[in-house]
Amino acid sequence: MKYDVIIIGAGLTGLSTAFYLKRKGFNIVVLEKENRTGGSIRSHNENGFVFEEGPNTGVIGNPEIAELFELLNIQPEIANSDAEKRLILKNNTWHPLPSGAVGFLKTPLFSLADKIKITFEPFRRKGTDPEETIASLASRRIGRSFVDYAVNPFISGIYAGDPKKLVTKYALPKLYNLEQNYGSFIGGAYKKSKEIKTDRERKATRKVFSSKQGFSSLIEKLVEEIGAENIICSAEKIRIIPNEKQYEVTFLQEGNPSIFTTDKVVSTVGAHALPQMLPFVDDSDMLNISTLTYAKVIQVAVGVNNEAIDDKYISFGGLIPEKEKQRILGVLFPSFCFENRAPQGYSTLAIYMGGIRNPELFNLNDNAIKNIVKEDLDKLFNIPPSSIQFMKIFRHPYAIPQYEKSSGKRFETIERIESQYPGLIIAGNLRNGIGIADRVKQAYDITESMLRS
Ligand SMILES: Cc1cc2nc3c(=O)[nH]c(=O)nc-3n(C[C@H](O)[C@H](O)[C@H](O)COP(=O)(O)OP(=O)(O)OC[C@H]3O[C@@H](n4cnc5c(N)ncnc54)[C@H](O)[C@@H]3O)c2cc1C
Repeated sequence: MKYDVIIIGAGLTGLSTAFYLKRKGFNIVVLEKENRTGGSIRSHNENGFVFEEGPNTGVIGNPEIAELFELLNIQPEIANSDAEKRLILKNNTWHPLPSGAVGFLKTPLFSLADKIKITFEPFRRKGTDPEETIASLASRRIGRSFVDYAVNPFISGIYAGDPKKLVTKYALPKLYNLEQNYGSFIGGAYKKSKEIKTDRERKATRKVFSSKQGFSSLIEKLVEEIGAENIICSAEKIRIIPNEKQYEVTFLQEGNPSIFTTDKVVSTVGAHALPQMLPFVDDSDMLNISTLTYAKVIQVAVGVNNEAIDDKYISFGGLIPEKEKQRILGVLFPSFCFENRAPQGYSTLAIYMGGIRNPELFNLNDNAIKNIVKEDLDKLFNIPPSSIQFMKIFRHPYAIPQYEKSSGKRFETIERIESQYPGLIIAGNLRNGIGIADRVKQAYDITESMLRS
């Protein structure tokens, strides 16, 4: 079998890449090791409770994600205004993250000294360390209490990571560029808001979104457009072998060996799966990629009787700063923000545990995890265990890659391997961002680059 492009991995990156390439007339096939498509994305509907195994929401952070929905002829499900309210825990009390000036002045989350300090942010000097961590950059520009009660929980919510380890340039490149290009977060954000945007740029609305009845509906639509016949699931032991100007891709299907030939091959699998798949890559080069740290995350979907939830908690969810020394990282309330996610009179919650902060929790057994959920919902939200209708535990040993200091070397090594082996593309969330919109943009960029070449 000969293909223009073989794509490895049927998560969002692989499927979006396949979708774009097929649209442009490339002869493609997707090879996936599991017996299902979607990768980290999987939505469930049990007795009217709709819950996610992986991502709960994305942000329309670039035009590509908005355009993907347009091309698929479906609508993203935009979160309602409850999603604008975000809670942060301080001294066992939840406080809304302030959005306006009055709320900002009144909030007990940040110290008075830092509230004064932040007014001088535009006049502070630019950082000179290109590998400065998020915690160091934020502490330098906006103050320690903002790091503790805004940046730390925010980074935990996105990366399940530690801002003292994540490098701004790699993990939050837009924030890094604000300082580098405009000299200030506040000044830069203001100037950017005044810049004239093209119609295409305006599609990046920053709105929080999901897909109807969960992200699996987006995956299903991609599969429909790609054609199920062009996706091979349960493809085991995939190996990519360079052969002159082409690649041979070998794998086992129901124990039977297959060999496909292709001009180009796009890997979208995690860094830990690459050594086996790319045996021809030099060991020391591969170590620069495969040693990427992943946060291990447990997500627990919980169905709760609405009567047990106080109205003051109606929000996107609550995040817990490391300083508060709690076991869980945070709670999301998807059924407050999206319609039809729970039966009448009930809510669906998503609780996160583990991450870089508490990796040891990942090894707890199901009963111990359920006990933590029951105790912490009671303690933190006054939700009694008797109001819990069900709990479902999902474990992600390779949930979120951490864009730490080693990332520079990883990106550089990948670029060198790609130039040594033209036609080989090492993609996926080990580079170019971890968010849903980032994954779609990477797929779009790969397609554009193939069209150019
Ligand atoms: C618990 C959790 C919560 C998240 N929350 C959010 C969120 O709220 N918002 C957000 O924007 N993002 C979130 N993310 C991140 C986002 O979901 C991921 O970055 C994105 O879905 C990754 O897509 P992908 O296709 O690059 O990788 P994956 O989804 O990991 O897909 C890779 C595919 O490759 C396959 N594969 C692996 N090894 C092999 C092999 N050897 N051979 C063949 N196939 C192989 C896998 O089975 C998988 O199907 C979350 C992730 C997790 C895990």
